[in-house]
Order: sequence, then C-alpha cells, then structure tokens
Amino acid sequence: MHRRQFLLGAAALASPAPLLAQGAPNVGANRLVLLGNKGGPSIRAYAPSPSCSLLVWNGVPYVIDVGYGVTFKLVESGFPLPALRYAFITHHHSDHNLEAASLPYNAWAVGLKTPVDVYGPKGVEALVERGLAAQKFDIDTRMTDEGRPDLRKLVVAHAYDEGEVMRNGEVVVTALRNKHPPIVDSFALKFSLGGKTIVFSGDTTYFPPLADFAKGADYLVHEVAYGPALEALAQRNPNAATILDHLKASHTMAEDVGRIAKAAGCKTLVLNHFVPGDDKNLTDEKWTAAVRTQFDGPVIVGRDLLSIAL
Ligand SMILES: [Zn+2]
Ligand SMILES: [Zn+2]
Repeated sequence: MHRRQFLLGAAALASPAPLLAQGAPNVGANRLVLLGNKGGPSIRAYAPSPSCSLLVWNGVPYVIDVGYGVTFKLVESGFPLPALRYAFITHHHSDHNLEAASLPYNAWAVGLKTPVDVYGPKGVEALVERGLAAQKFDIDTRMTDEGRPDLRKLVVAHAYDEGEVMRNGEVVVTALRNKHPPIVDSFALKFSLGGKTIVFSGDTTYFPPLADFAKGADYLVHEVAYGPALEALAQRNPNAATILDHLKASHTMAEDVGRIAKAAGCKTLVLNHFVPGDDKNLTDEKWTAAVRTQFDGPVIVGRDLLSIAL
C-alpha cells in the first residue's frame, strides 16, 4: 500500500494523535449530518451547497469532503469548530476540497488548539500546505499579536491510496478506487465504526464493485444524477462545452444508484451530491421514484443540515 504522510511545519507529531483530542469540545450524539448536498462547484444559492458531510461517533467528529461552505454548514448545524479533528477528501474536484485549508483555518480562528488530520488522494499535502502558506502573513501576525498557536503545526495532511486509510482504536476507514473519469484518484470511503458501517460513494459513475464494498452497510450515502434533467443543466453552463459528456460518463443515474443499493443490501440508502442540485422541478418524490425502480429499502433524500441519528 502506498501511503505518505506529510507534516506541516517543523514540530512533527511524534506518534499518532489520539482519536479524541484532549480538551476538545463536546460534539454531541452519534449522528450523520448531511451538510452540503449539491454536485459541482457552482454557487447559485446558500443551499444546497457543495459536498460535505459530518459523522460523529463516540464523541469523535469526521468531516467527509470539504466543499465550499462546509465551515458555515458546520456552524449552522451547531458543531463547535474548535473540535475539528478529522477531514477526509474523496477526490480533488473543488466541490469536495475547496475548504481543505480554510476549514482548519476557520476552526483555529475560533479557538482550535488540537491536531487536525486531513486525509486525501495524493496532492492533498500541497493543497493544505499552499492554502496555509497563502495566509502566512495573517497566521504569523495572529501568532505574535494574539498569542495563537502555529496552525501549520496543528494540521497534518496524509495522502492515501486504495486500501486502509486510517485505523485508530475500533475505527477503520478504507478506500475503494471508484470510476470518475478523467480523475484516477477518486475514492469511495467506508467508515467501520465498531457497531455501524457508513459508506460514501464519492463521485462515481455506475460502479458495481461498490456494492461489494458497501455490503450490508447501515447507510450507503450515494451520489445521484437525474438523466432527463441533464440537458437543461448543460444549457445553463455555456462555457463548458463538454459538460454533458462528463456528467454521463462520471456520475450515477438514480436508477443505477438503486441497483447498487439493492446489490449491496444496504440497510438505508441516502442520496446526496445531486446533479442537478438546484432544479426546483426535481422533487424528493421524483428522486425517490427513480431509485425505487430498483431498490425497495428505506431511502433518504438528502438536504443540507439533515441529521440522522446513529
Ligand atoms: Zn462532485
Ligand atoms: Zn467529482
């Protein structure tokens, strides 16, 4: 397995930081919160915002994807930002990684003083390092002027590849390379929490191996696209000539999401990363009906800030 760890700043952490940072604020009950649920980087309204979810298990928070708006959505959900501990990026489209550096920064600005581990496909080191480097003047100033700790020493970026991403106590995170051309390093992520299993599809076209990866999962959080609405979406993006081809080759139509859920035998299917994400004609009933052609288990149509107790 290929794995590299990149330590920002001079004071490298000698050993893995504890799962739950000492003195971190209480983050509340076990839950899955769908923070941002639209596919793609376009911002046309406050909600839905680009991809981000929060998983809380035994007092430890895991943020999955850090699209634009993740900081605000975490705050709005009642999450105490200084408790930020782990972030996982499924791939380097910006609707999944735009706040890789600004989320830790924003947490630091309101009191973060404990380590943050950011996991992502290769390139995550540069993404975080350069993002913080861009704020060198501000960070240096606030350290001397306000007595804050060095943020660059708190944030550790880890590049992961397919296989085990992280293991800490009973929590194991594993990655499956999915199919999201032209991006090669794009992954589904499985959180085995010791009692519950949550799988995130990441961005992918119909990808049957995902069903095995998500076998028996308590929750399969799967991206979804609505075929008949894609033409209209393409017309709204006049500077992206081949966007329709990309959408069809790189995302999963709702009926195929149902096929994956059925083959996986997941206990509950959760839809997120809607493409289109802001078409008012696409009601919850329409999304559900398309999935229902293949899957007859429980389906939750995601919306920003929807919290699911675990
Ligand atoms: Zn995306
Ligand atoms: Zn993507």
